[in-house]
Amino acid sequence: MRMKLLSFSFIFVVVFAAMYLSSCAEQKSPVVAQTQNTVKKESPVTNQTQNVNQPQIKKEPSSAVVSSPTIVSRQEWKAKEPQGKVKEHTIRYITIHHTASPQKNSTPIEKKMQSLQNFAQSESRLASGKMKPAWFDVPYHYYIAVDGKIAEGREIKFVGDTNTDYDPSGHALVVLEGNFETEQPSAEQQKSLQAFVAWLSTNYKVPTSEIKAHNDYASTACPGENLKKLLPTLREKVGEITKVSEKP
Ligand SMILES: [Zn+2]
Repeated sequence: MRMKLLSFSFIFVVVFAAMYLSSCAEQKSPVVAQTQNTVKKESPVTNQTQNVNQPQIKKEPSSAVVSSPTIVSRQEWKAKEPQGKVKEHTIRYITIHHTASPQKNSTPIEKKMQSLQNFAQSESRLASGKMKPAWFDVPYHYYIAVDGKIAEGREIKFVGDTNTDYDPSGHALVVLEGNFETEQPSAEQQKSLQAFVAWLSTNYKVPTSEIKAHNDYASTACPGENLKKLLPTLREKVGEITKVSEKP
């Protein structure tokens, strides 16, 4: 009986030791897991960087009501850093412009944005003979190309720039590619413009009555007759999409 008990306890000890050893082996894995966790900890930083890079558009809760447009971000078109300093502002108006240069179907939007930034950030003499200073960045906040693609221009928190006589503080500046004194906004551009302005007016709580053209504020042909005459329809469509109440 005693022998039996001894051998039984021996088996018990062996089993226990085996269990202990295997649990020691398992203890190694949490170390690995911990290392993995440490690696994982870095990813939120990466995500954060990506979030900063991404236009705010994609994460706004209002997207449930007004669908978020796809935007080519500054990182995607390889924007250079802004230069110098500029004021920040709160958006109260949405103002529509044209580039006043011919539409180019075959040039990718990234190239168009790079050219616009190069022009914006250097001093030059305008067709009018007036000197344009080197600006902080692209003068407009958003660009809608002839194919309907939208790109992020100057960060919207910064006041835009103009060669004309009005203060762009508080204005979200949206430019469409083309010279609409002679050309027509393409069907794709019109579609993007409606969807995009609907999104913009919802996000910044801009009433449809404050969606206007550049030449409602300054003496200029911008945004060209053929685009200007689409603005009543734009306001109507945006109103339907957003139901943003107008100011009394
Ligand atoms: Zn303009």
